[in-house]
Amino acid sequence: TFRDQERQLKQRLKQSLEGGPRVIIDLDFEKYMTENDIRHLVKQLGFSYAANKQVERPVHMMLTSFKDGVAALANKMISGLDNWYITRTEKRYDELFPSPEDKARLVYLTADAEQELDELDENRVYIIGGIVDHNRHKGLCERLAQASGIATARLPISRHVQLSSREVLTVNHVFQILVEYYARRDWASALDFVMPKRK
Ligand code: SAH
Repeated sequence: TFRDQERQLKQRLKQSLEGGPRVIIDLDFEKYMTENDIRHLVKQLGFSYAANKQVERPVHMMLTSFKDGVAALANKMISGLDNWYITRTEKRYDELFPSPEDKARLVYLTADAEQELDELDENRVYIIGGIVDHNRHKGLCERLAQASGIATARLPISRHVQLSSREVLTVNHVFQILVEYYARRDWASALDFVMPKRK
């Protein structure tokens, strides 16, 4: 029944908070965005959470630097946000993972990384830059991660799908690719499922 399905869904999402790979959306980019950009970002957070609900084994979704204007707009635009099964904190991701051992687990995802992501490792913590910038700030996340001494990696897109345009994706697409990869353990299949279809 619908009730049972709801119960199972909640159970799965609760479990994701205890195990499963952690995927942070780093919301520390308010100063780079217009109010309209932030609106788009908040919608993308909604799509990301929805994607995580679709799979048998959800990832542990975390929102860091959830504060100020971004938090205010998110709370206004998303009515059920308080009830989401996620970790949400005002802290920056590096305050959440302060020790050198923790820092070594962090992987900042960015299209500008040298290294290609090949696995989702449950012991690592993956970070997506929570920014909508229409390519105004090229290489920003790569630079910030490098300055903080954090490893970076890009999705293995070119190897698996032929993209007509650039490979900088939206927050929700990147989040959903990770979610689907974790469910399928197959990049080609996950990318194909998520990527907007080319004509
Ligand atoms: N100018 C921004 C682009 C933001 S796109 C930047 O400096 O990255 C939103 C986020 O999606 C990025 O911060 C990154 O975490 C992720 N992302 C987008 N395309 C990606 C790719 N091809 N591989 C890995 N991460 C990607």
